[in-house]
Amino acid sequence: MADAVPPLLRVEDLRVSFGLAEGTVRAVDGVDFEVPPAEVLGVVGESGCGKSVTIRAILRLVSRPGRMDGGSILFRKADGSVIDLATLPARGALMRAMRGAEIALIPQEPMASFSPVHTVGAQIAEAIRLHDPSVGRAAARDITIGLFRDVGISMPERRVDAYSWQLSGGLRQRAMIAMALSCRPRLLIADEPTTAIDVTTQAQILALLRQLQHRHRTAIVFITHDLGVIARMASRVVVMYLGRVVEQGPVDAIFHNPLHPYTRALLRSIPSLAGAVRTKLPVIAGALPHPFNRPSGCAFHPRCPDAMAKCARAVPALEDQGGGQRTACFLYDRAAGR
Ligand code: SF4
Repeated sequence: MADAVPPLLRVEDLRVSFGLAEGTVRAVDGVDFEVPPAEVLGVVGESGCGKSVTIRAILRLVSRPGRMDGGSILFRKADGSVIDLATLPARGALMRAMRGAEIALIPQEPMASFSPVHTVGAQIAEAIRLHDPSVGRAAARDITIGLFRDVGISMPERRVDAYSWQLSGGLRQRAMIAMALSCRPRLLIADEPTTAIDVTTQAQILALLRQLQHRHRTAIVFITHDLGVIARMASRVVVMYLGRVVEQGPVDAIFHNPLHPYTRALLRSIPSLAGAVRTKLPVIAGALPHPFNRPSGCAFHPRCPDAMAKCARAVPALEDQGGGQRTACFLYDRAAGR
């Protein structure tokens, strides 16, 4: 990759499988990507493509029957040193410290993340004090009120004492973003953060995340099945299909010159990128195969309009196409002289 600035996060050959009674599912199967500092990387694909498992693996939150089979998760700390999160005990003190302080998650449904029996303000203040015990209770409350103001929650002095079930979906998601920002992480992972809220609020939350990203220079990995969201939010995009990266690169390059047939199909499913209407994936021929029945060779071949005989036999590697764009497809197989 041509970027001169070292990446904040580099994921290399990440593999995660789930051992189930019916067999083993390779949910993430050799995923590579980088997140430059202060940039937004969009990860897109249909449900079941492995994007959520990938971020759970980065946060070391894959639980049984899932297991990490290999790969590196190289995170560059503020002092410039690089730590491989894949080598840390998932429940150890170091990984717990990384979660929240360096890498924070904005989940899909904040209702499930806030406890209903404590006020949201108390939970955020507790997280602040957990990461920095020198902060007193009153100071933590003041910081929380400031964070509420930062994320556009009106009457923050009152709302800090609300329970999650007393807030609207949009306010809960703003409070969750305040929680994620509370320890000033350098990487935010947003897992379809606008799925559970109405369209108008979605647009406001996306605008807020953009604003915060500019203001705090926080890098964001943005997981979505919505390429319209990627167009608005991200500078780089990773397209996943059945646990593998099939294409990645700068958003402009991928949107103007999509090479992989799957990326092209995803883009055709968006009627208007300029439109405010959110469009769900996909209008692609055939269904996503069940993970137990992963097709041989290129996993997209049963649905691919350009499939050739070799596509069912061999797995295409992710090859450089120039301009930072990389594509895993035999149509661009340079070794074969095409
Ligand atoms: Fe289609 Fe073959 Fe390319 Fe896979 S490798 S996307 S099946 S042309």
